[in-house]
Amino acid sequence: QRASTINLNAGPSPLPDAALLTAAASLLSYPQTPGMGIAEISHRSAAFDQVVLDANKDLRTLLEIPDNYRVLWMQGGGLTQFAATVLNLAAWYRIKHQLAPQDDVEGWYAVTGSWSKKAAEEGARMSISARKVFDGKKHGAAGKFTGIASVDQWDVPQLEENARKPAFVYFCDNETVDGIEFGGPGSAAAFPFEAFDPEVPIVADMSSNFLSRPVDVSKYGIIYAGAQKNLGPSGVTLVIVREDLIVDLDAAVQYGGARVPAMLSYKNMADSNSMYNTPPTFAIYVCSLVLRSLLVSPPLPLPSPTARPLAPLSDFADQKSSLVYAEIDASSGFYVGTADAATRSRMNVTFRLPNGGEELEKKFVKEASEKGIKGVNGHRSVGGIRTSIYNAVTLEHVKTLVAFMRDFQERNQ
Ligand code: PMP
Repeated sequence: QRASTINLNAGPSPLPDAALLTAAASLLSYPQTPGMGIAEISHRSAAFDQVVLDANKDLRTLLEIPDNYRVLWMQGGGLTQFAATVLNLAAWYRIKHQLAPQDDVEGWYAVTGSWSKKAAEEGARMSISARKVFDGKKHGAAGKFTGIASVDQWDVPQLEENARKPAFVYFCDNETVDGIEFGGPGSAAAFPFEAFDPEVPIVADMSSNFLSRPVDVSKYGIIYAGAQKNLGPSGVTLVIVREDLIVDLDAAVQYGGARVPAMLSYKNMADSNSMYNTPPTFAIYVCSLVLRSLLVSPPLPLPSPTARPLAPLSDFADQKSSLVYAEIDASSGFYVGTADAATRSRMNVTFRLPNGGEELEKKFVKEASEKGIKGVNGHRSVGGIRTSIYNAVTLEHVKTLVAFMRDFQERNQ
């Protein structure tokens, strides 16, 4: 039954069968601890230590993470990182510049969709000044998020020589709700690093396109991702942070820093190898299996022996998403994508059925579900259709989706 169900949910979303089969068996009895399941052993045991070591190693290999970056397994999802990134970087900045308590700290946000908008709002709640250097709602028609302008149209302040820089620049690499991605298929629109002072750490929310393409980690201060799309089950959030940005948050208090809950401190997490408290052991274990499966059996072969480890996943994402986009573009307006072609997402393909409005969209979702294609309704805040095609969605699944789209159009136009 699983084989014939096409799961296009936006997250949590499908995971590789091989990883899940191993995880299921390990719940009853983990081979390294016979008679005890993986969810039943101590996080301080040698067996679980090895799980984290293996996961870190495989992640470092896949993402080519430089040695001066730490990998942290945290809790609280992407939303908690909206605050944690700000609190940790504000502390780093206050210490670095020995600020007075009344001095303000600025964070700059590129707002390209619903999640970065929410992150900027959370940043402002963390007593920093959150400045939007791009606001996609002003760029898009009818006040909607539709794409990303080229950086010369952004509102990046030109700083005087001695002016204080922002503590960070923040963006969301793939907007899950709006289907907008930096550097989408055929696009030159990767994040414009060159427009910002190289001393200012860049923070990226990669929750929904993590492990879908190679990343030059060295360009970032912090990368984070909620696990529940390409990496594993919900309950764990991966944070990759440059070592020099990790500071003792209490040491920032004399410079006006806030008292921060111990669980949000990157230093506490780094010093304890992500075991400051009881981590979500089972979720981390499943992530370790997913990482291993991506390493040993990628969905496509490495394009060349020297290709970067995530190149096959990038090709795979391009291949699958372009099939759906081609169907949309060839539909003579029956299907209309919500995002500009240059920045549309390879993970979350969002579109509308303008001829029949919401009624027709409801019919589309219902009939898709009857055919075993699940989870294609748009996010509740924007409506429409969203087909999420993460790593564990196969090419066959996408072909079935496209055939359904064509058939549905023929019957309803
Ligand atoms: N950022 C992005 C890009 C997301 O897609 C999501 C959730 N889907 C979040 C942040 C929020 O993550 P969480 O639900 O784990 O808090």
